[in-house]
Amino acid sequence: MKIDYHTHHQRCGHAVGTLREYVEKAIELGIEQLGLSDHMPLFHIDPQQYLPEVAMSRSELANYVEECYNLKREYTRQIDIRVGLEADYIEGHEREIERILGDFEWDYVIGSVHFIGHNSEWDITDYRMIHLWQGKDVADVYRHYYDKVKKAASCGLFDFIGHVDAIKRFGFQCTQNTFEWEKEALDVIRKNDLAVELNTAGWAAKAAEQYPSQRMLHYCREIGIPITLGSDAHQPGHLMRDFDKALQMLKQVGIHQLATFSQRGRFMINTVYN
Ligand SMILES: [Zn+2]
Ligand SMILES: [Zn+2]
Repeated sequence: MKIDYHTHHQRCGHAVGTLREYVEKAIELGIEQLGLSDHMPLFHIDPQQYLPEVAMSRSELANYVEECYNLKREYTRQIDIRVGLEADYIEGHEREIERILGDFEWDYVIGSVHFIGHNSEWDITDYRMIHLWQGKDVADVYRHYYDKVKKAASCGLFDFIGHVDAIKRFGFQCTQNTFEWEKEALDVIRKNDLAVELNTAGWAAKAAEQYPSQRMLHYCREIGIPITLGSDAHQPGHLMRDFDKALQMLKQVGIHQLATFSQRGRFMINTVYN
């Protein structure tokens, strides 16, 4: 079965294409389950002032959800649309996130750590903030990032963790061995019964590999963390990008099932290898 559980569209301000264009492209590609998961509106910073084009506005969220459900109904014979959101984990603002999520019905919610720093002011996935690495101890940044991942996994708001080792995105490599921190984070994810996505967007980034790394995928299998699959597409043409490589990797690691989500429940399906 072909699935893609991580997609964006033009509402967030940095993606291209309407929801309908993603749905039609997905049908063309033979995707059977398409997860719509645009970025959660931000509230801890003023996006207009501070960081434009990062997420949809709060007032737009209801329109997003309504359009998702309309498309789900309209295309029900051709494709199974799952309605989701990529939520940010913002430390100290868990109740606010809960309120945002609580206003709507979701098939699933991705929990992603984009923002780190004491006031969650540094988006480590935004190239406009790369300069913040300067003068920092790379190991400290990695440790701090995985600390946030653990808190995200523990807060009880999410179904799976997005791009769990996104800290590697811009290629800042840690000379210290980070595997212990990665394993600790995965242990917390397991304890909270969350899944992890294999996110293929990393191949096109400076990281030049999928999220998470192969060693993390091995550890997921070892301790029984379910894996789902997402392209993190920011344009319709990127749906299922590098999925052939992803499936090869899963096969190598010995993962034969993928997690799918409906109404906040998780369902495992068999992976089809080419
Ligand atoms: Zn995005
Ligand atoms: Zn993300």
